[in-house]
Amino acid sequence: MEKEAVRQLKCEITTCTRCRLSLTRTNAVPGEGPVHSELFFIGEAPGRNEDLTGRPFVGRAGTVLENLLATIGLQRDMVFITSIVKCRPPENRVPGKDEIAACEGYLQKQMDLTAPSILVPMGRLASELVFSHFGLPNIPIGHIHGQLVNPGPYHRDLSIFPVYHPAAVTHNPPIKGIIFEDFRVLGTIIEEKGLKFGHEKRVK
Ligand code: SF4
Repeated sequence: MEKEAVRQLKCEITTCTRCRLSLTRTNAVPGEGPVHSELFFIGEAPGRNEDLTGRPFVGRAGTVLENLLATIGLQRDMVFITSIVKCRPPENRVPGKDEIAACEGYLQKQMDLTAPSILVPMGRLASELVFSHFGLPNIPIGHIHGQLVNPGPYHRDLSIFPVYHPAAVTHNPPIKGIIFEDFRVLGTIIEEKGLKFGHEKRVK
């Protein structure tokens, strides 16, 4: 039943025309991962490689993310990976507020279906969106990265753990040490919480 809901949602996203990004995309990129996963990664938007393949984080940033996951004993098919908007903004520009608002319902449905224990927004924009979604004051990613945040009394089983965007490692090499350290902390939190991960086939 849940797999059917995930399939339906994926179909809705791949045929969506709610915002202007549908006019310039090659493929929408709904995201991928197990139907249930304890970790839910949120990036900003698909880039060129993602647009061409319809898969999230398949370019250089994807390799960085896979390396980061490997340091905590995880592989990408053990976690859910998606982005704020599901279609590539032309020239990789920052998604507009109206585009983010048009797409936010999909992210919410994905979070509901995946039921993660930890949301990991990657980068400034994803972190801002997640904080605002839970009614939390915005804290710059430079101050809040690598810290476990409780989204409030109505979400006792959920935490937020913001990190820099993996693409920042390429643009800004000093970030590399910081993001790897943040993933080390994330690994410790996973251990303390006793979170379990397994390989699960993606819903096609
Ligand atoms: S970005 Fe989101 S809202 Fe806009 S067309 Fe793509 S799926 Fe639809």
